[in-house]
Amino acid sequence: MAERRFSNLRPDRVLALQKARLRQIIWLVIVALAIFCLTNLTRGTWINLVLDLGLIAMLLLAYRWNQRDRLELAAAWTIAALLIGLTALMAVDQGLYDEAPLAFPALLVFAGMFGSRKLLVVLVVLMLAALIALYFLHEAGIALSVPRPLNWRRPFAMGLIIAFSGFFMWLLAGDLSRNLLRLESEKLALQASRERIALMARHDSLTGLPNRTLAMDQLQYLLGKPRRGQELIAVMFLDLDNFKTINDSLSHAVGDALLCKVGDALRMAVRGTDMAARMSGDEFLIVLGDLEDERAAAETATRIMQALSEPFQLEGVEVPITASLGIALAPRDGNDPAVLLKHADLAMYQAKDAGRNAFRFFDASVNQGIIEHLQIASGLRAALARNELEVHFQPKFELAGGRVVGAEALLRWPRPENEAVSVHRLIAVAERSGLIHEIGAWVLQQACAAVSEWRRIGLGALTVSVNVSPLQFRRGNLEAAVRDALAANALAPGGLELELTESTFADTPDLVEVLRRLGALGVHVTIDDFGTGYSNLAYLQRFALHSLKIDQSFVRQLGAGTQEEGLVRTIIEMAHGLGLQATAEGIESAEALARLRAFGCEFGQGFLWSPALPSEAFITFVRQHRAASA
Ligand code: C2E
Ligand code: MG
Ligand code: MG
Repeated sequence: MAERRFSNLRPDRVLALQKARLRQIIWLVIVALAIFCLTNLTRGTWINLVLDLGLIAMLLLAYRWNQRDRLELAAAWTIAALLIGLTALMAVDQGLYDEAPLAFPALLVFAGMFGSRKLLVVLVVLMLAALIALYFLHEAGIALSVPRPLNWRRPFAMGLIIAFSGFFMWLLAGDLSRNLLRLESEKLALQASRERIALMARHDSLTGLPNRTLAMDQLQYLLGKPRRGQELIAVMFLDLDNFKTINDSLSHAVGDALLCKVGDALRMAVRGTDMAARMSGDEFLIVLGDLEDERAAAETATRIMQALSEPFQLEGVEVPITASLGIALAPRDGNDPAVLLKHADLAMYQAKDAGRNAFRFFDASVNQGIIEHLQIASGLRAALARNELEVHFQPKFELAGGRVVGAEALLRWPRPENEAVSVHRLIAVAERSGLIHEIGAWVLQQACAAVSEWRRIGLGALTVSVNVSPLQFRRGNLEAAVRDALAANALAPGGLELELTESTFADTPDLVEVLRRLGALGVHVTIDDFGTGYSNLAYLQRFALHSLKIDQSFVRQLGAGTQEEGLVRTIIEMAHGLGLQATAEGIESAEALARLRAFGCEFGQGFLWSPALPSEAFITFVRQHRAASA
């Protein structure tokens, strides 16, 4: 205990204060003793005078130790000196009639302040022992306790002891109340910071809206509350449709400001008793209680959609935003917060499917497809993160000479434990979930890396064709992705060809410009699956294109006298008429190949030669093919 009290672990402030107090107290006692010396001098009580002087000397020693930061020793020494000194003064003077024990309580307080409880007990015992010893010394006639005749010195000495003890207590009480006040204010500050942390833990720091935890608690509370009649509880899941584009094309600061404005708009659109919360990113949750019927929920949803339909003013720019909103109702769609949230989320996907900027009530029957979609999307996301996706290469031939001229890069997702998902489905899911941008850029990188490796190991000036989703064009950063992939692999732009489908032309602003710039860079552009999509052929002239790839549905049917023959021949002639080259995909038979050659089709690919292969296998294929045709 004593160790703890005097240990070096005590904060410096406390140590400094104790040191100052000890200094003051030692001075105080020395002054008191000096006054007693004077009275002893006038009285001629020499022994008392010597004892007082001895005590002063001991205290000066304590003072010195205290100044040298030996606080523990100084305090113990002071206590011992005072106890011995006071007892000796009693013994030589009036014994048990002496006024010296008046100072005992102050000495005990002093010991309590600087020493341990054990020291306090020891001190009390020693004091009692001194009193008892004096009594027995008196009884034995060795040192008699005899009161001196009363004169002014006695009240003076008693007054002095009381005054000095009082001053000492006053110092102490000041310290105590100051410390209590400080403790109280620290407690309040701690409480305030705890409250702030609790608030932050349940609120979103950006928008100030309740967060997921608080929203789920509110939902749990509403579900647990006894309901009077047929009232419904609605859970609305809201997702902004084009937030990522805004965030990327403007800035993250604008994105944050937009989220705040959306938060404000949601707060205004719901009743005071309802709760609008931010779940994460651009997802919000609205929890409504006490709804009369489904129509009341629909009204709130309409109000929310209207509130978001006005473009927001951000840094002087008008930013239009739309949202998709899914609604689940309790008790109809579930009575458990997690289930309701899941159903509202699924309904939100239904709203997105319906073309976005819409709200939908949860409908269990349309549910299954969405669940599958979500599963594939999350699997795909994980596969991308874990680098489990692959790119395979289907050899592409020059039909006249039979040479391999390049390959088409095709995405593959090996999933041994699950049933296969078609690449078409994968791409569709990637497009809907927004993953297509990341996957697209990754495929570009892989394809450029592969073709530059083939060139490096002497396979010649092969090219690689990469399929590009219309969404990649619409997002506006495709050019950068292309440049990055070329630069990272030190590949000349002529080694890369982009395949886009006809739907890209339907709804991509600035496409003319983008294709012109890509063409100027030296990248080739091909229209894939030609003949199956958009029927307006005017775009063939408007855009900077290099070739048409005839869809495999026509090519596979090529044979003796089918309708497709005319179609394929016409497409090839049209391509040539426009100054474009023709490529055929899906060549499975020698007859088809013979027809295509006869029609003057320049390039082709198909199972007749090979399906898409991993890069290593592709290299072997090219080498073997060259060896065989040499
Ligand atoms: P696509 O670009 O038209 O690719 C040709 C598809 O036909 C490939 O299917 C290929 O394996 C298949 N194929 C090639 N030769 C033959 C043949 O002789 N007979 C038959 N029956 N099929 C043949 P896959 O790999 O399943 O890809 C399907 C579609 O997925 C692709 O069609 C393309 O539109 C898309 N896709 C593939 N990879 C990517 C990618 O990395 N990005 C994007 N955006 N789309 C991709
Ligand atoms: Mg293709
Ligand atoms: Mg195709």
